[in-house]
Amino acid sequence: MKIILLVFAGVLLFVLILVILSVLFIKRSFKNSGISSILSAVKQADEDQMNTPKSLSGTEPVYRDMILRDFPEFGIELARSYIKGFLPEYFNALSSGVVFGIRDNCTSQLADSVQSALDMKKTENTRLEEYSNVKVHRVVISGYKRTNEEALIDFEAAVEYIKGGRLSQHKYKVSYVYFLQYGSNGENESLKCKNCGAPISSVGEKVCPACGEAIEASIERTWKIADVLCMA
Ligand SMILES: [Zn+2]
Repeated sequence: MKIILLVFAGVLLFVLILVILSVLFIKRSFKNSGISSILSAVKQADEDQMNTPKSLSGTEPVYRDMILRDFPEFGIELARSYIKGFLPEYFNALSSGVVFGIRDNCTSQLADSVQSALDMKKTENTRLEEYSNVKVHRVVISGYKRTNEEALIDFEAAVEYIKGGRLSQHKYKVSYVYFLQYGSNGENESLKCKNCGAPISSVGEKVCPACGEAIEASIERTWKIADVLCMA
């Protein structure tokens, strides 16, 4: 009987030692290759995501040809730099609550809707989102559509900014619209004669049909940003 108990105690001790050793071993291997390396990989991926600009559409050449067929004098590079300059102003407006700075460059519908969203936040006492260190990496054309009423160019922009103390990368879609007659929302301000205010109803018009005044084809007057959308 005594011997059986002794053997039993011995086996128990052996099993206990085995369990302790294997726990130690598992702990060590997790430390070296398991959880901590997964964590550092996640951290690395997070940092990569923070610093790598979003990739953009590669279809610009197709749309560029279509646009130049309809608007031979359209300055693509000018429009691109115009969008590039507009976005920081846009985020500045969102941060400051004052849309005055973007009013000249976008449709009044867009400025009004941004303003009312900001006013809503003010009345609800919600803090405005603060964007800083805005950087526009790249702007490409990602779409083009023309109807009787308007021509619409979609731009995609890779943007980075600091929001809430955190750097992040985003893709924005910017709609750039040329109003042929009256836009679907009545956005005709870009196509009024500066001299007499008569609406200019077709793309190619060089002089005002009402007063004969030459129509300036400056990009600000004829093309306007109609929408800004965060895609990613
Ligand atoms: Zn006129």
